[in-house]
Amino acid sequence: MKALCWAGAGLVEVRRVPDPELRNAQDMIVRVRRSTTCGADLPLLAGRVPEASAGEVLGREFLGDVVEVGPEVRRHRVADRVVVGAAVACGACWFCRQGMPSCCDNGTGGVAAEPEWGQPPAGGYGRPARLGGFAGGHAEYVRVPYADVGAFAVPESVSDERAVFAADAAPAGWYGAELGEVAPGDVVAVWGAGAVGQLTADAAVARGADRVVVVDDRDDRLRMVTGHDGVEALNHRYVDVLAELRERSGGRGPDVCVDASGMTAAGPGRWPAAEPDGGAALREAVHACRKGGVVVVLDARPGFVDRFPLGAFADKGLAVRAARRRGGAAIPALLERMARDELVTEHLATHRMPLERGAEGYALFRDRADGCVRVVFTP
Ligand SMILES: [Zn+2]
Repeated sequence: MKALCWAGAGLVEVRRVPDPELRNAQDMIVRVRRSTTCGADLPLLAGRVPEASAGEVLGREFLGDVVEVGPEVRRHRVADRVVVGAAVACGACWFCRQGMPSCCDNGTGGVAAEPEWGQPPAGGYGRPARLGGFAGGHAEYVRVPYADVGAFAVPESVSDERAVFAADAAPAGWYGAELGEVAPGDVVAVWGAGAVGQLTADAAVARGADRVVVVDDRDDRLRMVTGHDGVEALNHRYVDVLAELRERSGGRGPDVCVDASGMTAAGPGRWPAAEPDGGAALREAVHACRKGGVVVVLDARPGFVDRFPLGAFADKGLAVRAARRRGGAAIPALLERMARDELVTEHLATHRMPLERGAEGYALFRDRADGCVRVVFTP
């Protein structure tokens, strides 16, 4: 089959790779209908993830049709249309039973993360195998392990372009608002107007926030943001973000500050350079947040950031919480929301193209060119 693979040195290319096969009784094979780029791919493509090997199939978020099921798959049948959550989790270990599938002890195939992070997280599609990754969704077919745990039937009325965002972007945003404990009357600030940032803002509105302000440096993305009910935009190229946020929160600062900025683009034609001094949005969030507030990190960078403002963090009594691929439990509810038109996501697919144009799509996505928020591929 054809698949979009990491080719090393910041390159992606479509290659022929072997078709996936059932390996375990709980596996199924999905024929991909749609897959989407994800900000978490950018560090990988920037060469900042040394665990990656050329030839690994990319694609963290996808949906498709079931074409083959293992003998222990109960919830899915051939021809079902399913969306697959980004974390690969067993559903049965201690972490899964506590409702934390992204922390699953059994979903991972990788050990490289353990020395660096203390413990390995769950596996995930389109991540390097050495970090617990499985071949991803930018392909014609995908093997889905623990299919009953990680795949969800898509209601008939929900389009592919809408449902593909239920794989990870929408659960991440929804979970970000939940981690922030966004409550009626809150002022919420979100750094980053990409798909996750926009969906975090939607979630904050849905939870009853009084004001939701999204901060970014791209006018085209911010115009999209202001199309969401109840969401305001700030371009930090033109305004003093800290002063504006104070002003819009009665002088106190936002109750909840979410860093959904991901990795900043470094200009046309280049992958972002190593970022020893990344974390500008996180620092700004810590400074902006009201005393006793919550800072939520939905960033997808793999390594370290410098100059974390520990003094402000401690003296202001802030809570910092973080999550990656952790919202999987919300996917069925989000699909229902999509079916009721209460959650609309297809506008985030600013660019749609065949998988063969994967390299071009990733260049657009990396550079945030032509108003690109997400590229959705069709194999
Ligand atoms: Zn588990």
